[in-house]
Amino acid sequence: MSTANPHQLHVYFLPMMAPGHTIPMIDIARQFARNGAKATIISTPLNASHFSQTIERDRKIGLEISISLIEFPCQEAGLPEGCENLSSITTPEMVRNFCRAMDLLQEPVEKLLRENHPDAIVAGLFFWWANDLAQKFNIPRLQFYGTGFFPMCLYHTLKEHKPHENVESECEEFVMPGLPDEVKLTRRQLSEETKDEDKSPFAEILRKIAASQSTSLGIIVNSFYELEPAYARHYREVIGRKAWHVGPVSLFNKSNVDKTHRGLEHLSSDDNCLSWLNSKKPNSVVYVCFGSMATFSAAQLLEIAKGLESSGQEFVWVVREKAKDKGKVNWLPDGFESRIQGRGLIINGWAPQVLILEHEAVGGFVTHCGWNSILEGVTAGVPMVTWPLSAEQFLNEKLVTEILKTGTPVGAQEWTRRTDDQKETITGDDIEKAVVKLMVGEEGERMRIRARELGDMAKRAVEKGGSSDADLKSLMEEIRNYHP
Ligand code: UDP
Repeated sequence: MSTANPHQLHVYFLPMMAPGHTIPMIDIARQFARNGAKATIISTPLNASHFSQTIERDRKIGLEISISLIEFPCQEAGLPEGCENLSSITTPEMVRNFCRAMDLLQEPVEKLLRENHPDAIVAGLFFWWANDLAQKFNIPRLQFYGTGFFPMCLYHTLKEHKPHENVESECEEFVMPGLPDEVKLTRRQLSEETKDEDKSPFAEILRKIAASQSTSLGIIVNSFYELEPAYARHYREVIGRKAWHVGPVSLFNKSNVDKTHRGLEHLSSDDNCLSWLNSKKPNSVVYVCFGSMATFSAAQLLEIAKGLESSGQEFVWVVREKAKDKGKVNWLPDGFESRIQGRGLIINGWAPQVLILEHEAVGGFVTHCGWNSILEGVTAGVPMVTWPLSAEQFLNEKLVTEILKTGTPVGAQEWTRRTDDQKETITGDDIEKAVVKLMVGEEGERMRIRARELGDMAKRAVEKGGSSDADLKSLMEEIRNYHP
């Protein structure tokens, strides 16, 4: 703790090495610093290069925030050099090695805690061992899983009641018991791990993560109460875990420079895209992006291109796949680029998503339903076409389409680990229909009105005295008063 101010909290943040986990945790660390705490982010050299300029800008305006670097043990864990992030993983074998590498971080993190005596550690999903360290040093460990109350409640129900074991086929719907709303799922929408934890190659680590929940102080959630009140209450009162909702954390980025560089800061640029959007009418453009991890087969990319073209709508489409033949894109229909000139923009790489979504020209979002994207779409007040692929995205889709009623499904039915060899192909027709429904006509307009209301609530939640601002302050108070 600082000697100048004996009551200043010092909190360590250990984000899991995947953009969808690191990005919101950096936002949270910066908000702790803005609220007077000293924040230290533990990261590895390559991962830190994605946000170090942002932290430097904070330091220049006087915030007490810094990065503490540790080496990522690629070699020891059997990973290729430079493979420090889940987004560069390509095989199940690499996932196992990545988990091993994250386990090996325990020792260097322990050393940091021993030397610096922080008041708390906020650690990401896979760092189950952070609880043991926290206990050793008599400080609280806070979890951060990067998802919302609704999916966490659904996961809990699946684990406790196993409703998916009472159906006869992968396609038969089952009702999730004991939840505030009637939610139906199929086995096809669940990962192998969720269906049968024991058969999973991650069974051991999943058990350790589950066990670590009971010894942590609680969980920090990137959500706001008004978005999912029944599930925020269910999580705390029925499941009985402590939680603080502090989001939407993307709103902690106020300046354009922060918004532009959020995520992979050195890859982001807003120049072309924003001036293109400036030339468009309000609500006329659909933004299409599938997060930081998903990649598609050439056949699926072709269908997306066909669907966007035949929808007749203007679009910004973010594609992670690199052009294959010497700069020539081989996953677009012949003549596509010249036909969509002026009507569509393809971003091949990293897009400034928050800036794009909040641009008044953007009137809809085709999303893979990653939790951050859902929340960023909600915050911007845009309705969505939901196209879940993996992780908990099929659960998030239910929240958007059935509870919030601000989205329409594209029709994806099957959970898939590797999206580039997915079994299911969504056709250009499916995409066209969903995009037209969203952007044109009464139903889309009704969704847009509801989405705007939620967007306003989101902004109020993080303002002074709002529900998320209050929860963040009460969390800081709880850390201050912590007695093991
Ligand atoms: N993102 C971005 N630009 C991109 C792709 C993703 O800024 O081109 C950000 C997006 O705003 C979000 C995060 O990366 O904050 C992705 O997280 P999400 O939970 O939506 O999906 P994941 O990448 O974990 O599947």
